[in-house]
Amino acid sequence: MLLDDAKALLSHAFATGRLAHAYLLAGPPRGEAMDLAIHATMMVACGEGGGEPCGKCETCNQVAARTWCDMLVVEPMKKSRIISVDQMREGRGDNKVPPPYLLEWLSGTSFAGGWKVAIIVSADRMNEAAANAFLKILEEPPRKTLILLVTDAPQQLLPTIRSRCQRIDVAGARPCLPEPYRGQVLATLASARHSGPLAASTMSAKLCAVMAAMKDAADAETREEAKDAQGVEVDDDELDARASARYREYRSLLFQTMQDWFRDILVLRSGGDEALLAFPEYAGTLRGVADAITLAEAMANVSQVEDIARMAEKTMPEGPVLAYWLDRMKMCP
Ligand SMILES: [Zn+2]
Repeated sequence: MLLDDAKALLSHAFATGRLAHAYLLAGPPRGEAMDLAIHATMMVACGEGGGEPCGKCETCNQVAARTWCDMLVVEPMKKSRIISVDQMREGRGDNKVPPPYLLEWLSGTSFAGGWKVAIIVSADRMNEAAANAFLKILEEPPRKTLILLVTDAPQQLLPTIRSRCQRIDVAGARPCLPEPYRGQVLATLASARHSGPLAASTMSAKLCAVMAAMKDAADAETREEAKDAQGVEVDDDELDARASARYREYRSLLFQTMQDWFRDILVLRSGGDEALLAFPEYAGTLRGVADAITLAEAMANVSQVEDIARMAEKTMPEGPVLAYWLDRMKMCP
């Protein structure tokens, strides 16, 4: 459902005293599903009884900044990309894992005397031990505690966890790469027939051509706008800066498109349904790749595209960065 409908559903449940202890928010963990988790947290933190958070008070601001005292956000660890049992349990002298520990935190009382909210981002990345430890909490949830599992791969959660959560599927409009670039990028990704250095450099050249066109467009659009803004003098340096900022926006949308593509493959590879795909119109192609690669390869692809985006942000030249990383990916049947 759309984000606004999902918000309304939760607000109604809260206002009528029917909020569940635990929700499974299925959708993009960096997009709508996380937005919904933040909304739900604001709701119990601010919208006392009425169900609607004001969105501007001190508490709401703290929730938005994820610094509110009675919320805890647990995410996969950077390197391993898993949520381990050490993030769940007490430290037991293991100083490598920073506090606070989820289970200990959940069993304590809230700071402000009201609700407590735990958000588990990419909950599908809990390893087995973590999931089993977490299950105990779901079996006997503490009072006035809201547990939100955010994931785009809900099928990868233990069935015993899924069955104890109320599931809300959320999807919606994120800013996406404008046409014709979006179509060009998707056609390029869909056209992969081989992996390896030659295929990688061909694909890199095609994507660089799209980026070159975006750069020209960013330039032209910026100059056009400056002409329209009559009476405001803008020097060339300023124009260049604006054009380059606009280009970087386009480019990050291009990387996001690539990321969504490989995330779609991962969703299918791990048995997810097509309703969760960012590009359902390419379901056939995506499934072809998903069926031909391993789960580990599908996961590696997603993180490698993140690496490409990060390297390009550091003003590394896009072409070589793309060719290098694409060569390390398994991207076709
Ligand atoms: Zn508020």
